[in-house]
Amino acid sequence: MEQVCVGVDIGGTSVKLGIFTLNGTLLKKWELETKPKNDPKTLIENIGRSIKEKLKEGGLTLTDCVGVGMGVPGPVLPNGYIEVVVNIGWKEVFPARILSDFLAGMPVALGNDANVAALGEAWMGGAKHYQDVVMVTLGTGVGGGIIIDGKIVPGKHGLGGEIGHMHVRESEVEKCNCGGVGCLEQISSATGIVKEAKRLLEKKKSASRLALLEDITAKDVLDAAKAGDALALEVVDTVVKYLGIALSHLAMTVDPEIFVIGGGVSKAGDFLIEKINEKFIYYTPITENKAGIVLAKLGNDAGIYGAARLVLG
Ligand SMILES: [Zn+2]
Repeated sequence: MEQVCVGVDIGGTSVKLGIFTLNGTLLKKWELETKPKNDPKTLIENIGRSIKEKLKEGGLTLTDCVGVGMGVPGPVLPNGYIEVVVNIGWKEVFPARILSDFLAGMPVALGNDANVAALGEAWMGGAKHYQDVVMVTLGTGVGGGIIIDGKIVPGKHGLGGEIGHMHVRESEVEKCNCGGVGCLEQISSATGIVKEAKRLLEKKKSASRLALLEDITAKDVLDAAKAGDALALEVVDTVVKYLGIALSHLAMTVDPEIFVIGGGVSKAGDFLIEKINEKFIYYTPITENKAGIVLAKLGNDAGIYGAARLVLG
């Protein structure tokens, strides 16, 4: 029987799971519900039970599976210890040990979900065939992951890839969720884009089509910018300026082969990528020989791909 591995992406409302061949073909994927504030042992054992069931359905046994990787929405220390993950109410646990014990000693690897998603994109997504990759996820917040030589750079304190909390804007006065001021996430996330648009609308009272909307979403702003709306274009210019600054800092520190942009905001597609690239080029005049910028390809499946890849070492 063919050998497989399993990727698990634990989120705030659901757990996504996938069974993969060792060369990255997704054989089966499914989801479990995350009970709010479920204790980790119960949730992890449910995950273990579900993996056993699905392997069996596929005519596989535990011995056909070389390991399970898990992504969790919070910081993971190098020894696999989780101090606290607010979203899912976990505190002071070693989740990989619990799952490994439940699955008869099977190898289990653990990583932060954003880092793991970056690994997924590097394995089978937008950055396939690249070894040095930085992914930036523009969603409700801004997440990130750094892959060097095909491996996640988690950092010594779980901060590796926390691109959203790079301080980039000196003039910001509001506080970020992290307690900082002027973080990239405050500008270039979906939330940041809406805030930026509302600020400009208040200041300019200009004839933007956004002024006609009752409630603005990031998509509204991006769509209006694509249609040539001057105020929306100004918002996007700010958004990509600070992204360009952040990417230039990353290029000067880890110099990846490629940047991958994912998350809901990245649905704006090539329009956004071209604008980010312009700014990135502007802020890195030092050389023309540098990382390109591409769109992520795996969408919400990046997490299960990366988790599965994680356990392959
Ligand atoms: Zn922050």
